Amino acid sequence: MSTPPAERLLYEGKAKQVYAADAPDQVVIHYKDDATAFNGVKKASIADKGVINCRISAFFMDKVAALGIPTAFIRQTAPRDQLCHRVEIIPVEVVVRNVVAGSLAKRLGQPEGQRLARPLVEHFYKSDALNDPQINEEGAVLMGYAHGWELVAMREYSLSVNDMLLAFWGDLGVDLVDFKLEFGRLGGRVVLADEITPDGSRLWERGTGRKLDKDVFRRDLGDLSETYRELYRRVFGESI
Ligand code: UDP
Repeated sequence: MSTPPAERLLYEGKAKQVYAADAPDQVVIHYKDDATAFNGVKKASIADKGVINCRISAFFMDKVAALGIPTAFIRQTAPRDQLCHRVEIIPVEVVVRNVVAGSLAKRLGQPEGQRLARPLVEHFYKSDALNDPQINEEGAVLMGYAHGWELVAMREYSLSVNDMLLAFWGDLGVDLVDFKLEFGRLGGRVVLADEITPDGSRLWERGTGRKLDKDVFRRDLGDLSETYRELYRRVFGESI
């Protein structure tokens, strides 16, 4: 199946496009090579990032489904394309942290790298205009962004995904520092939506602490395309 024609484009985000699929309750998610950071202020094209992230996310979504967690993902249909259920995105991003880094380190004036005694779940209101401000679960309910029961499911699913990802990356000699998930509503249920990729995760090589994620781009630490190719080799045991 090839990428849908331009007239089917429903939405264009920073790293992905969303197209209407043949079925009205489905969409095709197309992964671009574009990388952005700092809410779109820094931009670049990273060779093959779309192909790498599309396959990595598809691989993890299948693993999530195998845990019994519902997802919007149906199947990969082309190197950069996934067929997914059309969902209503819940405007609350969930970040799970195992190690202090990024905005948590900044907010609390702490150095990066401190391991947390157990995973920390944080929530952010999904708003480019406001730069995704942090919000707590009570605030998300009172503002009408999510129902309490949805946040309960999102927390439980996120922690289960964390357990799976920690073990998976750990076996490859990579420490999962943190990652961001998005959820959607589908038929009265909460489902995992969006992506699980190194764009939305922090992955540090065990032992060296070398960064294997989008921080390489955010912080000008090297060649992101090469870094993602290395991750791809570790995950799939073959080169791209
Ligand atoms: N993250 C993301 N999208 C966002 C904000 C964060 O994918 O809009 C991911 C980020 O890659 C990291 C985790 O969520 O793996 C935690 O990010 P943090 O809150 O530390 O913010 P950042 O330092 O990335 O601005």
